[in-house]
Amino acid sequence: MSGGRVFVLGGGVAGLSAAFGLAERGHAVTLLESRQWLGGRAFTSFDRVSGRWLDNGPHVMLGCYRAMRVLLRRLGTEGGFQQDASLRLGFRLANGERAALQLGRLPVPLAMPVALFGLPMPFGARLRGLLGMGAVLRGTRPEWSLADWFAARGQRGEPAAFLWRPLCRAIMNCDPEEACAADFLATLREAFLGSAARAAFWVPKRSWRELVGEPAVPALAKAGVTVRLGARVTALVRCGGVVEALGLGDGERIELGAADRVVSALPWFALAPLLGNTPQQPIGPHHLRSAPIVTAYVTLAASAPPLVDDGPVVGMVGGSPFDFLLRTPGGDPRQVALLAGGERSFDGQAVDVIAQRALAQMQRYVPEAVLAGASVRVRKEQHATFVPDRDSGFHRPEPGPFAPTQPGNLWLCGDWTATGFPATLEGAARSAEAMLRAWDAKAR
Ligand SMILES: Cc1cc2nc3c(=O)[nH]c(=O)nc-3n(C[C@H](O)[C@H](O)[C@H](O)COP(=O)(O)OP(=O)(O)OC[C@H]3O[C@@H](n4cnc5c(N)ncnc54)[C@H](O)[C@@H]3O)c2cc1C
Repeated sequence: MSGGRVFVLGGGVAGLSAAFGLAERGHAVTLLESRQWLGGRAFTSFDRVSGRWLDNGPHVMLGCYRAMRVLLRRLGTEGGFQQDASLRLGFRLANGERAALQLGRLPVPLAMPVALFGLPMPFGARLRGLLGMGAVLRGTRPEWSLADWFAARGQRGEPAAFLWRPLCRAIMNCDPEEACAADFLATLREAFLGSAARAAFWVPKRSWRELVGEPAVPALAKAGVTVRLGARVTALVRCGGVVEALGLGDGERIELGAADRVVSALPWFALAPLLGNTPQQPIGPHHLRSAPIVTAYVTLAASAPPLVDDGPVVGMVGGSPFDFLLRTPGGDPRQVALLAGGERSFDGQAVDVIAQRALAQMQRYVPEAVLAGASVRVRKEQHATFVPDRDSGFHRPEPGPFAPTQPGNLWLCGDWTATGFPATLEGAARSAEAMLRAWDAKAR
C-alpha cells in the first residue's frame, strides 16, 4: 500500500489505538469524533446536582489487559489504577454477611483451591467450584450457553452464585442463559492461566476523563494525528467497495483520493446505518443486539458513619437488580457505586425509581449503612455493550479490511469485531492491534 491519508472514525479505545498505530507507520491520520471529547464509551461528565465528575459507569480492568495497557502507557496514565498483586473479590450476601475470594501470589491454578475454600459454601459446593475451575481449561461446546455449561459441569447452585454469575455479568454483561460459554471461558483463560497478577483487578483511582479522554488530545497531537472533535460522520459515500467521500453532520463533504483510506472504529449501532440496511448480509453490525449498564452512585449523608471497606470490587451474591458494589480506591468512604449489567427491568424506568431500588438493595446487602439523607445519581447506558450470545459470533467480522476478498479502502475495528473477547476495553484495544496486523500484511 502506498501513502495517502487515513481517516479514523471514532475516538474510543479502538479508534485511539488505531490512530496511534497508523501514525507510527507514517500515515497522515485524521481522527473524526462526533462528541466534544475522546474516550468513547469510557467517559466522564459533570453532574451539576452532586457537583461531582461522574463516569458514565465504573470501568474495571484486569491485569491481563495487555493491549489496553499499551494505550494507557502512550497516554502516561497506566499508574492511575490500584493494581492489586492478585485477584481480590469481596462478597456481600443478602443478609449483609461478608466474604472474600483472595488469591495468593502463586499462579492462579495453584492459588485457587485455597482461596475457594475460604468462601462460605458447603464442602461439596467448594469441591464442585474447584472442578469448575479445572473445566474452564477444558473449554466448552460451541453451541452451549454458559447456563448449559453450568449444567454439564456441575456448577449450578453455590459455584454459579458466587463465581460464575457475577463474573458473567461483569465480563459478558448478560445472564448466563444468554451468554456464549466459549467467549466467556476464553476471557477467563486469559485471566486465570498464568501469573496471579493477570487475574487481578485494576481499579481506576481517577475518572476516565483523566485516564483517557484528556491526555489523549496532546498525545495524539504529539504523534502527528489531527483530531477533529464534534465531527459526526453521517455518510460513507461508497461505489462498490470503495469509500469515495465522507459526509459530516454539518454538511461538509470530505472527498477521498485513490490512495486514501477509512478506518471505522465506530460501535455497531453507529456503523450499521452508515452501511445501509443490509440484513441479507449475514456478517455485520446490523445483527448485534445492545445491552445496557446502569450505575447508581450513592453518597451517604456527611453525618453518616463511613462505609465498611470491603475492597474496591464487591459482588452481591444473588443480587438483583444490581450485581456489584464498587469503590474508588482512596476515594470518599461514604461513596459507593452500584452496578447493574445487562439488567432489562430498568428499561423505561425513571431515575427516581432506579435510585429507590438501589437504596433498597443496599439496605439488604449493607445493612449497617445509614442511608437516611443519602443521595443517588443514576447513569444509564442503553448501548453499553453488544449481547455476546451464541449467535453474535456469526455476525462479528474480523478486524481488518471490510471486504477482505474485494478491492476497497474501508477498514474495521472496534470492540464488536471478532476479537474473541466480549465488549471490553481490552477487546477494543486488541481489535485495533489485529486491524494493524492485517494492514501491515497488506502493505507487504
Ligand atoms: C457503563 C459502561 C461500563 C463498562 N464497563 C467496562 C468494564 O468494567 N471493563 C471493560 O473492559 N469494559 C467495560 N465497558 C465496555 C467498554 O467501555 C467498551 O467495550 C469500549 O470502550 C469500546 O471501545 P470502542 O473504541 O470499540 O467503541 P466506543 O468507545 O463506542 O468508541 C466509538 C466512538 O465513536 C464515536 N462515534 C459514534 N458515532 C460516530 C459518528 N457517526 N461519527 C464520528 N464518531 C462517532 C463515539 O462517540 C465514540 O467516541 C463498559 C461500557 C459501559 C458503557
